Amino acid sequence: MSSEAKCSKPQCDKSVAINELARRRGFFWPSFEIYGGSGGFVTYGPLGARLKQNVEAKLRELMVKKIGIYEIESSIIAPGKVFEASGHVAHFKEPMVECQKCHTRFRADHLLEEKNISSKETEKMNLEEIKQELIRHQVVCPDCGSPFGEPTRYLTMFETTIGPYSGAVGYGRPEAAQNIFVEFNRLYNVAREKLPFGALQIGHALRNEISPRQGLIRLREFTIADLEFFFDPEEPDCQYLTEVEDEVLPILLCDTRLKECEDITNFTVKEALDKSIIKCQWQAFFMAQAKRLLNQIGVPTEKQRFIEKLTWEKAHYSTQSFDQEVLVDRWGWVEVSGHAYRTDYDLGCHMKASGVDMTVYKEFKNPIESEELIVKPIVAKLGPVYKGDAAKVAAAIAELPARQVADAMEKDGSILVEGYQILKEQVEISKQKTIVRGKRFIPHVVEPSFGCDRLLYIALEYAYGIKNDRVVLGFPRTIAPIQVGVYPLMSRDGLDTKAKEVQRMLACEGFMTDYDETGSIGRRYARADEAGVQLGITIDYDTIDDNTVTIRDRDSWQQVRASITNLPKLLQKYFKGKANFADLGSQIKS
Ligand code: AMP
Repeated sequence: MSSEAKCSKPQCDKSVAINELARRRGFFWPSFEIYGGSGGFVTYGPLGARLKQNVEAKLRELMVKKIGIYEIESSIIAPGKVFEASGHVAHFKEPMVECQKCHTRFRADHLLEEKNISSKETEKMNLEEIKQELIRHQVVCPDCGSPFGEPTRYLTMFETTIGPYSGAVGYGRPEAAQNIFVEFNRLYNVAREKLPFGALQIGHALRNEISPRQGLIRLREFTIADLEFFFDPEEPDCQYLTEVEDEVLPILLCDTRLKECEDITNFTVKEALDKSIIKCQWQAFFMAQAKRLLNQIGVPTEKQRFIEKLTWEKAHYSTQSFDQEVLVDRWGWVEVSGHAYRTDYDLGCHMKASGVDMTVYKEFKNPIESEELIVKPIVAKLGPVYKGDAAKVAAAIAELPARQVADAMEKDGSILVEGYQILKEQVEISKQKTIVRGKRFIPHVVEPSFGCDRLLYIALEYAYGIKNDRVVLGFPRTIAPIQVGVYPLMSRDGLDTKAKEVQRMLACEGFMTDYDETGSIGRRYARADEAGVQLGITIDYDTIDDNTVTIRDRDSWQQVRASITNLPKLLQKYFKGKANFADLGSQIKS
C-alpha cells in the first residue's frame, strides 16, 4: 500500500487531514493506543520529534542565544509549598460541569464559548452566574443530551505524594516558571549579581485538563518554554530595542475589545512604547521576537495578533499581559504564547513563604546623605519627677515620631504623652547625619511563555499544501525535519552504493538526511514532499561518470545539477539562507 497522501477532499478540515498525515508518516499520534489511548497525551515519532527540536531551536536562536539568556533544567514534580506560595493551589482551577446521566465532565467555559459567550465573559462569572448562563442557553451534555449538575471549580494540577509519606504532597508543574523563581538566588549568583538577566526553561508541563479534545492544542502533558527576564524597575531600558523598534505588531487593544470589536491596530514597537500601548520595553522586545519566531516557522504577520488582556483576564499581579494568537483553520484564533509583566510578585511570594531573602542590593551612583532627627528622653531629669513611672514615660516618648515631638517642643515647649506633660528640657533633640550607599529591592520580571506543541501544530498547518492533488509540507527550510533525501535512480548497478556514500557524507557533515530506494523515483519524491523533505538528491548513471547529482526542490519541483564535491559547502549556505535553490547548480528541465 502506498504511504503518500492523496487528499481526495482538498477542502476537508485541515486538522483532520494533518492528524491523519501525522499518524501515518510518524509526526505524532495519541499515546497508549494499544490500551485504548488516554486523552491529552501524545507521542512524537521520528519526524515530529525532529520538527519539534527544530522549532525549539528557532525559539532558542531568537530568545536565548542573541540575548545571552541562561537555560535551566529542573524537576517536573515540586513540593506542595512551591505551588501554594505561587498561588496555583488556590487559583489554578477551571469551571467544570458533570452530566447528570453519563457523568462526562466538561469545561463550562468551553461549553459557553460554543454559545458565543466568550471566555473573557465567563472569566468574570462566579459559579452561580455560570450555572444561570448554562440554563439560559439550554446547554446540555454534548455526548448524551442530558442536563448538567452544579458547576464546580476543578484544580487542574496533577497531585501526588513525594516518597511514601501521604502528608508530603507534591504537584506536577503546570508551568516551568516557578522552577526559575525558586532558584533565583543561585541564578543571580551565576549572573555575577548583575541585572538584567533572563532564564529559560523548556520542559514538560502537566495540566490535568478536563476534556482535552483539540489534539496538540490542548494536552495534559505538553512542552512549555518559560522565559523569566529579571530587571531593575528603576532601570527598565532594553539595550536591544533598536533591533526591533520598526517591527510591526498587530495588536487587538483592550478598548477595541470592550466595544465587542476585533479590529487590529498595527503599531511599530517604537510607536507602541511611545504611546504607552506596551508599558515595558523588555516586554515589547520579547513580543517582537515572538512575532519573528512565528514568521520564521511559516506564519505570516497577517495571521498573527497580540490580544491585550482585560483586567479580569490577566493574573492579579500582572501589570500588563498580551496573548499572541495565530489563526488556525479549525479553531480560529489560538493562543501560542503569553507575554506578562509579572512585576515582583513571584519572587515576593516565595520570599514570604520560604523566609529566604530574594532581594538584590543596588549601590547608588551617588550615595544619598540624609539627616535624621533624634529624640532622646533624659532619664536623669524624668526620674525625680515621674519616679516609678519614669521608665514607662521614657519608652512612650521614644515611641513617638521624632518630628512630632520636635514640632510640639518648638511650638508649645511641651508635649502630652500618656497623660504626662513632658517639658522641653526633659528631652534631648539632635540631628544625626547618615549616608545611604544603596538599597535592597525585589527585581521585576517580564515573561514570554510559549507552548511548543502548539508551535509545532501551527508549523505543520502553515506548511500544509496541496499541489497537483498531492500533499506537500512546505516548511521553511530552517525547520524541515529532513533536510536532504538521497535516492538512487535504481537500486542496482552501483547506484545504491554511491547513494549511500553520498548520504553518509552529508550526514557526517551535519545534515539531517534520509535514504529511500523503494518504488519509482516519482513515488519517492511524492513521499518526500509529504514529509516536508526540503531537497532531494538523485544519483543516476551520469553520477558514476562525472560525480554530479540532480538536486530537486520540494516547493518548486525544479531541478539543478551539481557536483558532489561542492555539495556540503553549497548546502550549508542554502540551509543558512545564504544561497537560493538556483545557486546550487546548473538548471535542468524538470
Ligand atoms: P499559559 O501559562 O496558560 O499562558 O500557557 C502558556 C502557553 O502554553 C500557552 O500560550 C499555550 O501555547 C501553551 N498551553 C497552555 N495550555 C496548554 C495545553 N493544555 N496543551 C498544550 N499547550 C498548552
